Amino acid sequence: MTKFSDLNLNPKVLKAIAEAGYETPTPIQAGAIPPALEGKDVLGIAQTGTGKTASFTLPMITLLARGRARARMPRSLVLCPTRELAAQVAENFDTYTKHLKLTKALLIGGVSFKEQDKLIDKGVDVLIATPGRLLDHFERGKLLLTGVQIMVVDEADRMLDMGFIPDIERIFSLTPFTRQTLFFSATMAPEIERITNTFLSAPERIEVARQATTGENIEQGVVMFKGSRRDREPSEKRKLLRAIIDAEGEACTNAIVFCNRKVDVDIVAKSLKKYGYDAAPIHGDLDQSQRTRTLDGFRDGTLRFLVASDVAARGLDVPSVSHVFNFDVPSHAEDYVHRIGRTGRAGRDGKAVMICIPRDEKNLADIESLVQREIPRLDNPLKSGSPAEETKPEGEAKPKRGRRKKDADTPQTTERPAAETPGKTNDGPKRSRGRRGSGGGGAGEKSDKGGNKVVGLGDHTPEFIGLSFKERSAG
Ligand code: AMP
Repeated sequence: MTKFSDLNLNPKVLKAIAEAGYETPTPIQAGAIPPALEGKDVLGIAQTGTGKTASFTLPMITLLARGRARARMPRSLVLCPTRELAAQVAENFDTYTKHLKLTKALLIGGVSFKEQDKLIDKGVDVLIATPGRLLDHFERGKLLLTGVQIMVVDEADRMLDMGFIPDIERIFSLTPFTRQTLFFSATMAPEIERITNTFLSAPERIEVARQATTGENIEQGVVMFKGSRRDREPSEKRKLLRAIIDAEGEACTNAIVFCNRKVDVDIVAKSLKKYGYDAAPIHGDLDQSQRTRTLDGFRDGTLRFLVASDVAARGLDVPSVSHVFNFDVPSHAEDYVHRIGRTGRAGRDGKAVMICIPRDEKNLADIESLVQREIPRLDNPLKSGSPAEETKPEGEAKPKRGRRKKDADTPQTTERPAAETPGKTNDGPKRSRGRRGSGGGGAGEKSDKGGNKVVGLGDHTPEFIGLSFKERSAG
């Protein structure tokens, strides 16, 4: 078995790795680090959780340890699809460069230009950026990419989903032809293949198994559910979610709850909170400081439930998530793999439970064909058969009272408790965008009918980049 010490990494990097507690390189690291150190282009086909971040940061640091940055001319560039992923890569650099003097700057939306300009002016060894923000800086004349010796594209398939490929091509064209490129994608869509054929030169291709598809350590299940009435389905589904969570008991130490749409991320988070669950939302419309706060809370264990959209959660490294709850069946089968890959990481056991309503059965079938197994059907923990009936409180005696009282404000024929009514949800402090076309009310339900489903995840694109798919949901 390969050891880190066999890999020709800088001794100070090796020291940092040992301090981080890593004993042996993961397959993507063992495969990518040697060619990267030789200056070759690398095409890594690997998803989050495989150790891919270190597979490019470690050789980069080793290569950059020699030489010095010049003003406004970063020596290397890492492009990431989301701010969170960029921030995570930056954290990785901090960990592995702790015994070296390398400088870095993080260019992401939601952070002031001024601070970032200052750093770039001084000169940085590593620039970590989302494509839109990088091009903004470039166009303002604050940045030269002609000094880039190493360029990394991380999560290229997600860049494609988010409509960033033209930006990526432009950025490639702004960097020197002689640069080294390290390119990572979980899948190789034809468009990704085209980009790699165009911009990579005789790359070393390293492919690692899609761990989540074979993830024996992730227990999976799906609860098939049909609302008592279509208009009641959303609130009944939220009730079912609570029952599923409760059924897990203490085994559920922390969890990510995935929803397909931002509007549901907000509604579900609010609803869980109302019922006494420690939950907070994360999606591209929330401001950066709030997102950071929420994530920090989730990482350090002070927040138990993170309610997320796919893009917001993309690439998040939260080492010990006990559960993933799919409030919706993702409309892209690939996303199921990414979602459940948030649990059962690094060999730990994990559990992923999904709710499937009749409309989503086709998507469920797509997922099962992708992962090549049947996802076990679980019993509905609300055995009464009519989740609309408020039979007994789920987990929280106190909140139930609140709900009753509030429900009294809501006609019995409507499906939502008052706190979940559109008016109230719309008043959420950080929500100012992303509701267009829904009339601001009942967005979840109404838009269901209008077919406002996330397509290619473009719906969740951070606002600083613009949209490729659904304009009306632009954040
Ligand atoms: P990534 O796929 O880059 O998101 O990494 C997933 C997780 O694995 C992160 O928490 C890393 O800190 C961790 N990790 C990366 N490389 C190793 C390694 N060789 N041994 C143990 N953990 C690692």
